Amino acid sequence: MARNTGSVCRMCRREGVKLFLKGEKCFTQKCPLTKRPTPPGQHGHARQRKMSEYGTQLREKQKARRAYGMLETQFHRTYLNALKMKGVSGENLLQLLERRLDNVVYRAGLAPSRAAARQLVNHGHFQVNGQKVDIPSYSVDVNDVITVRASSKENVPFKAAREGSPRILPKWLEVNADQLTAKVAALPGREDIDFALQENMIVEFYSR
Ligand code: SF4
Repeated sequence: MARNTGSVCRMCRREGVKLFLKGEKCFTQKCPLTKRPTPPGQHGHARQRKMSEYGTQLREKQKARRAYGMLETQFHRTYLNALKMKGVSGENLLQLLERRLDNVVYRAGLAPSRAAARQLVNHGHFQVNGQKVDIPSYSVDVNDVITVRASSKENVPFKAAREGSPRILPKWLEVNADQLTAKVAALPGREDIDFALQENMIVEFYSR
């Protein structure tokens, strides 16, 4: 799969918001966005001009796509699925993004970032309701129980997850950090998104 090999912090500076792509570093003073909150590049300071409506919509879409670490085709497919659901399309999109297994693993504190979570899922370290699932885009549902496989529990990333500083957990997940399990107590809502995003702009971008 194609992936971004450049600086991920550059993406946060481009979007002007913390996307939490680097794990623990994102929560410390070492975060470049804390020290230098300007767009990347030599002329980053000078480039802060007023953005067109299209530009704003594009940036919101890119922000969400980058935060969840998705390629354009995957992201657009998720948007099309959101359109088929009842309710507000933008909120449906956010819910589908949050329900991805790699995101759940990250939000539950079982991985330091969404990128690390995706890799751990890909490597087959997780079960959903007792069945091995190695598809990062797998969509969890209410009452699903996500567990680290018994044979993986002593691996370094999971020891770190058990012993690391506790994360602020979203209300829709019930996490047992000692057992390395997470239960989906409810479907995520608009208020559960952990970074600033105008999802209506994404809908407008794709509706042009
Ligand atoms: Fe880098 Fe994380 Fe800060 Fe983003 S939030 S700039 S990924 S350290």
